[in-house]
Amino acid sequence: MSTVSGIGWDSHRLVEGRPLILGGVVIPFERGLAGHSDADVLAHAVVDALLGAAGLGDIGQHFPDTDERYRDADSLGLLRKVITLLTGHGFGVVHVDTTVIMERPKVGPHRDAIRAALAGALGVGPGQVNVKASTGEGMGFVGRGEGVAALAVATLTTE
Ligand code: MG
Repeated sequence: MSTVSGIGWDSHRLVEGRPLILGGVVIPFERGLAGHSDADVLAHAVVDALLGAAGLGDIGQHFPDTDERYRDADSLGLLRKVITLLTGHGFGVVHVDTTVIMERPKVGPHRDAIRAALAGALGVGPGQVNVKASTGEGMGFVGRGEGVAALAVATLTTE
C-alpha cells in the first residue's frame, strides 16, 4: 500500500441574501457565498484535493454548474458522493488539511464544528482533519471582503 496526495483551491464571492456555509456549518454573518450549489468554498476545496489525489479530475467534471441537480446542492453531500467514488476505486482517506482565507467573520469560534462536520462527511475521525484560518491582511479580494478562498491537501492510501 502507498499514499498519494492532492491539492484543492476554490473561491466564491460574498454577497447579500445568501447563507455563509463553511465545511457544512452555517456561520452567522450578514453576507454569504454566491454560487450554483450552496457555494461551500471549503467543501469544494476538499473535494478537489480528494479528486486530485485519486487522479479523478475535478469538481466541475463531476458536478457541473450547468446541471440543475446541483442548484443550491448541499456540498457535504457532494463530498460524501466523492468518498463513495474513491472507496470504489480502492482509496482510503488518511488526512485532510485545510486553510480558509477570509477577512471576517472569524473562523475560530466555528473551527471545531467545521472539523467535525468535514470528518463526518469524509468518514474519518476529527483527528484526521485540520482546519486553519488566515486573512488577506487587507489585500486583494479577500482583504476587501469581496470573497472567501479555501485551500486543501488530501492524503489517501491506494491499493
Ligand atoms: Mg466552488
